[in-house]
Amino acid sequence: MPEAATLCPYCGVGCGLLVEVRDGRVARVRGDPAHPSSLGDVCAKAVHLPPTLRTNERLLYPQLRSRRDSVLSRVPWELAVRTVAERLGQSVAEHGSDAIAVYASGQLTTEEYYVASKLAKGFLRTNNFDTNSRLCMASAAAGYTRSLGADGPPCSYDDLDAADCVFLIGTNTADCHPVLFKRLRRRKAAAPDAVGVLVADPRWTETADLSDLHLSLRPGSDVALLNGMLHVLSREGLVDRAFIAAHTNGWADVERVIAEYPPARAASISGLGEESIVAAARRFGRARRALTLWSMGVNQSRSGTDKIAAILNLHLATGQIGRAGAGPFSLTGQPNAMGGRETGGLAHLLPGYRSIEDAQARSDVERHWGVEPGTIAPRPGRAALEIFEGLATGEIRAIWILGTNPAASMPDTDLVERALRQADFVVVQDAYHPTETTRFADVLLPAAQWPEKAGVMTNSERRLTYLPRLASPPGEALPDAEIVARVAAAMGWKASFAYESAAEIFDEFAALTAGRPCDYSGLDHARLRAASPQWPVPTPAHPGSSRLYADGIFPTSDGRARFVPVEHAEPAELPDTAFPLTLTTGRVRDHWHTLTRTGQAPALRTRTPEPIVELNGADAQRAGVHDGDFVEIASRRGKLIAQCRVTSAIREGVCFVPFHWGRRFGFYKSANNLTLGARDPLSHQPELKACAARLRRAEHPYPQGGDQSPQAADQ
Ligand code: SF4
Repeated sequence: MPEAATLCPYCGVGCGLLVEVRDGRVARVRGDPAHPSSLGDVCAKAVHLPPTLRTNERLLYPQLRSRRDSVLSRVPWELAVRTVAERLGQSVAEHGSDAIAVYASGQLTTEEYYVASKLAKGFLRTNNFDTNSRLCMASAAAGYTRSLGADGPPCSYDDLDAADCVFLIGTNTADCHPVLFKRLRRRKAAAPDAVGVLVADPRWTETADLSDLHLSLRPGSDVALLNGMLHVLSREGLVDRAFIAAHTNGWADVERVIAEYPPARAASISGLGEESIVAAARRFGRARRALTLWSMGVNQSRSGTDKIAAILNLHLATGQIGRAGAGPFSLTGQPNAMGGRETGGLAHLLPGYRSIEDAQARSDVERHWGVEPGTIAPRPGRAALEIFEGLATGEIRAIWILGTNPAASMPDTDLVERALRQADFVVVQDAYHPTETTRFADVLLPAAQWPEKAGVMTNSERRLTYLPRLASPPGEALPDAEIVARVAAAMGWKASFAYESAAEIFDEFAALTAGRPCDYSGLDHARLRAASPQWPVPTPAHPGSSRLYADGIFPTSDGRARFVPVEHAEPAELPDTAFPLTLTTGRVRDHWHTLTRTGQAPALRTRTPEPIVELNGADAQRAGVHDGDFVEIASRRGKLIAQCRVTSAIREGVCFVPFHWGRRFGFYKSANNLTLGARDPLSHQPELKACAARLRRAEHPYPQGGDQSPQAADQ
């Protein structure tokens, strides 16, 4: 059977897949040996994609309800689109453009992101366009921009094969980016003494199994560790003064701050031993090529942007950037979170990494979109959490949600549900129904998903891959871009959204990247069908760029990177006598996001059917619970009940719950019942990795008589 090459639609590693289609259906998926990011490797999530595509939970037809207390009924596309257009128009007419919001997803293709953002910012005239990248990589994007002058990870996966020190902080790569982890494991196995692996994480995960040094730090203390390491490097002459002098500004300010972080102080804040901090610094500082990988453990914090500044300070001070095997490297969660940032898919951005506050940028984009000067509002719109807070207070009246499930993925689920109940009008566009979010919809729009539509995605190493349409969408589902274009046409903007194909959308967007840091004006769909280069790709003949800043020139006004002095800040909610533990959340290998797709794969569901609470033995003893007991974990916002795994692999005082399960799977299974909406002031990314919690044995797993989920009550 012939196979077609495409991209995995799950995580930001962006593995190439070969897909066998039989009778119009995806029959088999395997790794594509020719894809440069993954070299033929895949994880179980990709292998088990086929059963997730045609299930009883696919949303097949547009549905509508005239009143919140009535049931959703099937309607023709024309009526659904007209309703969305009229109700959004009505909200704008009555309450102004900023009374509406669009909340999208890193699951969208670049073309879909672009048209949705164009409709919101250029035609609906609201910058309240944000995406679930806000929960994922907003701190990394803000951190790169502040220190290096522009967003964009500077490294390549090939750097794993060249580094002699790999520092993993706030990332359980083994579970969250499995194919990348396997590559690191192969590298370590081939040269166990030559390659040092440092892992900073309050949990001992499979990632830590690979480490020469595990730094089991207190949640939220990353800046203390990083500043402490830089203190040691400076004290021991392990910084690169020639690089600092030639390529950076601000070292003296950082030197003053890190002088206050000798290992003894860094140790007392982080809960680590002084000798561990010194050993980590020396291993990093003596490496010829040092690579730092990080993910949500750093980003999802109310001081996430400062944590990233501390990582970048470490690399700038040692000249570990712009060379093979060296650099700071954020690993994205969503398959196209990168493409979203490139297309301006956040409330403060315009396409091509332009700031919405930059008058020239607004003018350039307005001209490209053919709208009147002054159309694009000059202030950033609301970020993800602020959108839902605005709905809850009534400042926002209508929301259009595309391809994501905020009622399960956002912190403090009560607030999100209240917001969606409160809204005048909720449109949800998704491939699946029911989800925790679709139950609040006034209009449901059925979307095509992978691989039922064509488009492009960018992975964590800036590599663009073309995804062809390989199967028909079921029922009446349509590609997201086509749905957006239909609504735009119904609102009177048909000519500006009259695209014949995804290729045409790509060309319009790629032209806007010319001369920008994420320049891929040298690409089109035809070229991407044959190759998957890394941006920047400024001309059709350009081969792509495996690494940024190789010339030591940064996209700042003077070409120099900026040191940013940062201080340790505690998480917003610390343990106390009433809530003595810190709850941290994360992923497991077999599941993805809120289970809308992996929950449809029997093998994945069977292997990992429930959330499990991880708890240190000392905390278990204090709480009087044993391995295997059902426990209730409560925070100031809600509670969760799950079986308990007592383990020495997690730091005392910390417990861990995966966040994949929302209320649909049992009201008390949702980790986001407990998390809080504190957020970083620059990136607006919420602190999903730390909140205060308490734990006790649950005599009856579901104390109020069975599954209390609202969905269960609905059925
Ligand atoms: Fe897909 Fe990520 Fe697994 Fe690769 S590592 S196959 S991109 S889920």
